[in-house]
Order: sequence, then structure tokens, then C-alpha cells
Amino acid sequence: SETLPPPARRRILTVANQKGGVGKTTSTVNLAAGLALRGLKVLVIDLDPQGNASTALGVDHRSGAPSVYEVLLGEISISDAAAVSTQSDNLVCVPATIDLAGSEIELVSMASRESRLKEALSPEALDQLQADYVFIDCPPSLGLLTLNALVAAPEVLIPIQCEYYALEGLGQLLNNIDLVRAHLNPSLWVSTILLTMYDGRTKLADQVSAEVRQHFGDLVLRTVIPRSVKVSEAPGFGQTVLTYDPGSRGAMSYLDAAREIAVKGAELENK
Ligand code: ADP
Ligand code: MG
Repeated sequence: SETLPPPARRRILTVANQKGGVGKTTSTVNLAAGLALRGLKVLVIDLDPQGNASTALGVDHRSGAPSVYEVLLGEISISDAAAVSTQSDNLVCVPATIDLAGSEIELVSMASRESRLKEALSPEALDQLQADYVFIDCPPSLGLLTLNALVAAPEVLIPIQCEYYALEGLGQLLNNIDLVRAHLNPSLWVSTILLTMYDGRTKLADQVSAEVRQHFGDLVLRTVIPRSVKVSEAPGFGQTVLTYDPGSRGAMSYLDAAREIAVKGAELENK
């Protein structure tokens, strides 16, 4: 089947939005699977103690499994914690266990508390995994875990739900991104906006998407992810929608979005 072009240089994308339930995890796992199933090497870092991305990728995340928690503590490397996903041999995931729940507090007293993930995601470590793409799935807050993700990645991908109050809180996220750029990570930028849970029957969905496109222009992927039951069912089977129901509208749209991301990535200049 079709293969997607590798990026001009390795891409690391933090998937962030401090609102819960906007499609961060769903987008992370399905975009990652889309790229991996089309031939690219992908690493997913699950940075949410809920471990939903780990579940959808079929990776063990019971307490005690090697996880991102030990990586943040500096006890093990990314490669030690990465497990191959059931969804594709090209896809590995560093899972989150419930142990991560205490880490927002534990990290506070640690040295270089905001750059521990960046240190773990060294070029050497990522070379070892041969990762073309790295996605970091953030928890629904702007705490130390999300801060670690924003310091570790040049790119931010913001999923926006086509719903009431979609844009509420976005200003706060963008402010935080500006602060991190000014003080901790000069190369940080919002590279990608993805509209999720689009319901074509409502006028509201169109209004939200028009408003987002007016504000963010080309950063918004042309592909919009529809609201679809298949998408929400897949994680219950430890799957992404791409393997759960490959012919579904949800699967096709995540594949289209992955293709857009790959085409953009291949064109990114080597700066
Ligand atoms: P977040 O990670 O931002 O909290 P999730 O990705 O977990 O959000 O999505 C929140 C809920 O919405 C989950 O139950 C998920 O299965 C569901 N969901 C996400 N995207 C879709 C979609 N396109 N269609 C239907 N349900 C979706
Ligand atoms: Mg989530």
C-alpha cells in the first residue's frame, strides 16, 4: 500500500490543550498509527497518568511496567521504556502508569524539573529508535508534565473540538506557549491545528471551524475529524480506529490527516 514520505528532519510534536475530552489522546494514537501503517517510524510518549494512549496502542501500562515515570526520574532510558504497539511494528510507545499521577508533585523538588523529558529525548536516544515522528500526549492541565512536553518538542499540535466553548482556554494555552518560548524553548511553535469531533449536522460546528481557520490560517489541517462511534469504540478493544475499522469514516479521516502532516513534514526546510 501507499507509503508516506519521511520528514526532512525528525519531528517532535506535543499534543496539547488543557481542556479534557477534546481529542488529544484519540488524535495522538490515530495519527501515530496512520503514519506508522504507511511506513514511517513513530514513537508515542504517553504523558497522561490515565494511560489512555497506552491502552489504545495495546501497550502494557499496569503499575510496575517500565514507563515514562521512570524515564522522568532518570532511572531508565526511552528505549528501555518503549514497547512495540500491537497496532504496527513501526510504532512504539512509552506508556504511562498510574505512578505518574504523583509526579507533578514529585518533580517540583527535582533539579531541572521542566527539562527532564527533553534530556531523555536526546538525539542519540531517538536515533536508536530510528524515530521519524515523536508524539507526546499531554494530560488535560498546564502543569509540570505538559511543561516538560512543551520544553521537549519544537512543535505543538492543538486539537480543537468543534463544540461550544471550543476556543475558551485557548488564549491561556497560547500564552503559556509564548512564555515557554521566551524562557525555556526558543524553537517552540504551534505547527498544527486539528479540528475534531465535527458534526456536519450542526451549524455550530461550521461556525467553530470557520473561526479557527480565520484565526490560524494554514496551520489548520484541511482534514476535519468527524464525530464517529467507531472512533470512540476502538480504545475499548485496545486498538486505534485504523485497525478496528479501517474502512470507517473516522479511520479514513485520521489517515488523511496523517498524510497532510507527512507531506508538510517532508517539505519543512532544514533550518
Ligand atoms: P482528551 O485526550 O483530549 O481528553 P480524548 O481523545 O480522550 O480526549 O477524547 C475524549 C472522548 O471523546 C473519548 O471518549 C473519545 O473516545 C471520544 N472521541 C474522541 N474523538 C472522537 C470522535 N472523532 N468521534 C467520537 N468520539 C470521539
Ligand atoms: Mg487524553
